[in-house]
Amino acid sequence: MSQSILELQGIEKSFGETKVLKNISIAVEKGEFVTLLGPSGCGKTTTLRIISGLEQPDGGRVLLDGVDVTEQVPEKRDVNTVFQNYALFPHMNVYDNVAYGLKLKKTPKREIKERVAETLAMVQLDGYEKRMPSQLSGGQRQRVAIARAIINKPKVLLLDEPLGALDLQLRRQMQLELKRLQRKLGITFIYITHDQEEAANMSDRIAVMRDGVFEQIGTPAEIYSNPGTEYVAEFTGSTDIRRGKLLSKENGRMLIQVGQERVLIETESEEGL
Ligand code: ATP
Repeated sequence: MSQSILELQGIEKSFGETKVLKNISIAVEKGEFVTLLGPSGCGKTTTLRIISGLEQPDGGRVLLDGVDVTEQVPEKRDVNTVFQNYALFPHMNVYDNVAYGLKLKKTPKREIKERVAETLAMVQLDGYEKRMPSQLSGGQRQRVAIARAIINKPKVLLLDEPLGALDLQLRRQMQLELKRLQRKLGITFIYITHDQEEAANMSDRIAVMRDGVFEQIGTPAEIYSNPGTEYVAEFTGSTDIRRGKLLSKENGRMLIQVGQERVLIETESEEGL
């Protein structure tokens, strides 16, 4: 079996009395696009912050390419993050924003120049080197943030609702561009959204989160056609959920009153009823 590029093993995290992550585990393969999908407050950002090292878990381990990095500082981890609010340096032009990480690593000037040019071309911003962030549109700023995050070719790129601030049309266009970029670079993406359509369009696998746990992890097709729990079915809206009153249950058959109707459901076994 190939080694996972990223593994979360039994991650626990509390803030004060509140348990925000309850024993979450996932193994992500190299080049995979995995989306954490869930409602506000379910623990998505906290999970990303634990992967990047900005937050320490109370229990469990984070493995990057097979190495336990749980105790490692963020700068040592081969991981970058793209935030919803871009987090660009406002006083630096596009070139300097994108070159920043390479300068920190004392990369030779000529190499920096080449790599910035190559990366800006990838996000279709060639010619924008001298612009300041304030002179760019939201979509262009987000492209600069993405360029800055991929220039170092991190093993894993974390994206925290990166398209959340964009209007619908631009958002759709950027979804396609991001997916294209991810395929081309072969970088593993861990992507946060609470937009189901976005998750379904872009992901190889989706981890549906609820209240600090992964309710289900699977391909979009699995999640939508075979929701593993009632919550997933309801959250994705993929199953027609009707509520009724159980009248009787015998030998794998259930008689249920749904509104004015009585429905008899026959199952192959009584297991799970
Ligand atoms: P959203 O989609 O709104 O960004 P989320 O799923 O990313 O939500 P988190 O930001 O991970 O959720 O937060 C999970 C829970 O942890 C929330 O209840 C939040 O209030 C709480 N929380 C997050 N960070 C802290 C902190 N530093 N101190 C205390 N509570 C926190």
